[in-house]
Amino acid sequence: MGRRRRKKIVKVYKPKIPKIFTCPVCGSKSLNITINRKDGNAYVKCANCKLEWSTNVKSYEETIDIYHKLFDEYIDRLE
Ligand SMILES: [Zn+2]
Repeated sequence: MGRRRRKKIVKVYKPKIPKIFTCPVCGSKSLNITINRKDGNAYVKCANCKLEWSTNVKSYEETIDIYHKLFDEYIDRLE
């Protein structure tokens, strides 16, 4: 009589890539980043201060990369 082996549940953890970021202009968490793979552009929009920005996106880039780009852009402008 074999004992029942406890089934090991392997959970595949997929981290969700956030889509809403903190706006570098107004500081509100209402910055939306959309990547359009078809036209190779990323569109950034802030629902609070109406900031709009778009940039080229490479195939390996994710929303977080676009967010960093935007930040660099705005920091450069402020200096
Ligand atoms: Zn904003």
